[in-house]
Amino acid sequence: MLFNFDNTYARELEGFYVSQIGAPAPAPKMLAFNSGLAAELGLDATALNNEQGARIFAGSEMPEGASPLSMAYAGHQFGNFSAQLGDGRALLLGEVIDTNGKRRDIHLKGSGRTPFSRGGDGKAVIGPVLREYLIGEAMHALGVPTTRALAAVTTGAQVMREGPQPGAVLARVASSHLRVGTFQFFAARGEADRVKQLADYAIVRHYPDLAEADAPYEELLRAVMNRQASLIAKWMSLGFVHGVMNTDNMTISGETIDYGPCAFLDAYNPKAVFSSIDQFGRYAYSSQPAIGGWNLARLAESLLDLINPDSDEAVRIATEILAEYLPAYEAEWLDLMRSKLGLFTSQEGDKRLVDHLFSAMHEARADFTQVFRALPDPATAAPLFETAPEAFEAWLPLYAARLQTEPEAPRRKALMDGVNPVYIPRNHKVEEALSAASEGDILPFEALLKLLQTPFHPQAGFESYAEPAPAEFGPYRTFCGT
Ligand code: AMP
Ligand code: MG
Repeated sequence: MLFNFDNTYARELEGFYVSQIGAPAPAPKMLAFNSGLAAELGLDATALNNEQGARIFAGSEMPEGASPLSMAYAGHQFGNFSAQLGDGRALLLGEVIDTNGKRRDIHLKGSGRTPFSRGGDGKAVIGPVLREYLIGEAMHALGVPTTRALAAVTTGAQVMREGPQPGAVLARVASSHLRVGTFQFFAARGEADRVKQLADYAIVRHYPDLAEADAPYEELLRAVMNRQASLIAKWMSLGFVHGVMNTDNMTISGETIDYGPCAFLDAYNPKAVFSSIDQFGRYAYSSQPAIGGWNLARLAESLLDLINPDSDEAVRIATEILAEYLPAYEAEWLDLMRSKLGLFTSQEGDKRLVDHLFSAMHEARADFTQVFRALPDPATAAPLFETAPEAFEAWLPLYAARLQTEPEAPRRKALMDGVNPVYIPRNHKVEEALSAASEGDILPFEALLKLLQTPFHPQAGFESYAEPAPAEFGPYRTFCGT
């Protein structure tokens, strides 16, 4: 047996999905295989990193024990509710228990049409598949909860996008694919029993301690809220812009999902938007915490009947919980920022100190990642502010004074270097690697992936990977990726 599947979603949640198999793939070929993750999942890498594995991950051969299905979900996309989205090009193959005893979904993205495809072709192409692979693995190495990439395969089919492109499938691993939108799907149809069934399932799977709670459903809302507050704080601390924070792309587990139009900041700009479809900047960098709260309010609405049968009382309770979100986020964020500045203690004026640094970065359009990495030796940070040095120069003595009050000077640099990466997926390097791969050369992708797997350690010969894009690269635009 290649996979030791134990498929609770298929078994316990009939009516929440449609059974579905993948489309035939003419010539599946392994493009990238994540042996480290395979080992963590208790899979035999040598049995899978071959032609049979390519057929399985292309969705054209179903492994023993799989119960392939497409999940139903709804979602608010850019603020507008779609009552039916669902896996339009994805299959949940099944669940395995990893070597840490944790249940993980094995899921294919790009495996063909499903009853949820609407107008789409059910396919994915090589560039976006490798992009999700690369950025997801980079996020994992940066310490951000995320779905992971197990494998990327090409199918041998041509898929029409702007022009014909090599078809590809991403095999993705998640602690589950439950989304805010999964709850919305059943709540919008008034199927209270199913919302309850889903909430109970989510509790067992992600928050088992809540099963015994007096008010498990309000605690579920609170638990998801705390995980999302912490997740979004991590994104913000790394300059990550998700780009498409629709409620169908927000997980109940608190993992980042769906690396479509995401990108990392280079020059610091709170209004940064990379996605070509985000015309009004709804999902701009600095809007992400508030959007997280907005999405959680949609989850709360879906859970109201479970929280309390008296709707006024349910709204009161949910409102109280949601009011905890921004303070929870702020506290998480400030803790992360303290570490980035090398502060072991927390003090009254810390938020002001951080805000002051960000406004100096904004004025100088300083590179987000480089500034923090350089801070242990502020003299090396100064050139990053050369276009508008005044605010940074004014900040330095305040920072120095704050550091004077810290007891842990000898360990400071280690703290900072452990949270401020040298390498992030630089947009121009990612593009370079993806276009080479589209033309049949996978080596730049492999080199970049390897570097991003140890993002906190500088490596000789890779200095250019730590640099922002050259000016001629121009403003970066991403496409929804598909
Ligand atoms: P996403 O923007 O990738 O989160 O997808 C939003 C919705 O569109 C989901 O229901 C997807 O399954 C669906 N979708 C995206 N691309 C395709 C495609 N090529 N074919 C069918 N459905 C798609
Ligand atoms: Mg999605």
